Amino acid sequence: MSLVDSAPSSHTHDAAASAALNAEDRARILAKAALFSPPDATLPDGRRDLVGLSRDELTELLVEIGEKPFRTKQLWHWIYHQGVTDFSAMSSIAKPLQAKLAERFVVGRPQAAMVQTSTDETRKFLFRFRDGQEAETVYIPDRREDRGAVCISSQVGCTLSCTFCHTGTQKLVRNLGAAEIVGQFMAARDSYSEWPSPKGDTPRLLSTIVLMGMGEPLYKYENIAKAMKIIMDGEGIALSRRRITLSTSGVVPLMDRCGEELGINLAVSLHAVTNELRNEIVPLNRKYPIEEVLAACRRYPAANNSRRITFEYIMLRGVNDSEADARELVRLISGLPAKVNLIPFNPWPGSAYRPSTREQQNKFAQIIMDAGFSSPIRTPRGRDILAACGQLKTESERIRAAQS
Ligand code: SF4
Repeated sequence: MSLVDSAPSSHTHDAAASAALNAEDRARILAKAALFSPPDATLPDGRRDLVGLSRDELTELLVEIGEKPFRTKQLWHWIYHQGVTDFSAMSSIAKPLQAKLAERFVVGRPQAAMVQTSTDETRKFLFRFRDGQEAETVYIPDRREDRGAVCISSQVGCTLSCTFCHTGTQKLVRNLGAAEIVGQFMAARDSYSEWPSPKGDTPRLLSTIVLMGMGEPLYKYENIAKAMKIIMDGEGIALSRRRITLSTSGVVPLMDRCGEELGINLAVSLHAVTNELRNEIVPLNRKYPIEEVLAACRRYPAANNSRRITFEYIMLRGVNDSEADARELVRLISGLPAKVNLIPFNPWPGSAYRPSTREQQNKFAQIIMDAGFSSPIRTPRGRDILAACGQLKTESERIRAAQS
């Protein structure tokens, strides 16, 4: 299975094994594990990035430099409500303290290595992090209203190798840290100058988050949880949990935890209605088969009729798009507060699949709708840019390789 997945499960076993290791082996293993971790929050010049810290961690740092804990509230407001990255712009903080903070800290952002805006206004960012690794973020505006969804990545690459997914062809490089996850949203908002954070019911251009970009977000749940808590904090970005959706391929044990602790919306990449086919196209199914994934959906605490679970279903011609498949899908999700998002496959170079015909998509959707479930067919967006998840990163790597 995945690198993350294949970590030894028994602590006793770990202890015995590590006792037998010599110092060199230990150093090698630690170095390898560190490769999958985000870069250190301290810059080479010794300054510490404040983005991605919990309120408690921020307070600890401030107390360490001799400041009072109430400064946390002030800084939080400037960083997450006002979106300010320059301490000298934090006007409620006295100048000497601004200078002291600037000496020790930064308010970081990932760097936009590539930005492409489609004729349909979808904007795709390739963000580069401090260690040079890159991940994609996409803003998909709702063209009828002034709002839109930001699709955020949780890993650089992915271990899951779903056969229809371009990102699945890239091996996992590492997990993204809370700072990098929050940073993608903040940098996307910089791009639209959406600061300060709109309050209450004031419309937002970047109004929802979907954790649906590169990677499986539940594989590094702690980082996602920390980032979402920062984004939901009412004194900062203050995005409601109702406006955040986490999309998983079905990491069952963590689905429960996500529902209990974060209460955000859930989407499940189902894509097939038999274990035989799902084992092939979503290989994680071999570990958590369809019945277990659906059982986790049935107990998901944040799901009800006003907050339905979304089942993502990519339409692959002649593979999973028959009317019998649609009827089986209805049977599987019956009784769940659910909707089905039908996704026309967006072919990428080297992919083995073709998109379902429009006629077949409609037939499939009709069967699901007749059973009482909403079943929109997602309109392909950003067709004129490298919009399939993972494509921009591949392109950037190609350019960098050509330049080196
Ligand atoms: S669909 Fe998601 S989980 Fe599957 S390979 Fe692609 S990024 Fe990974």
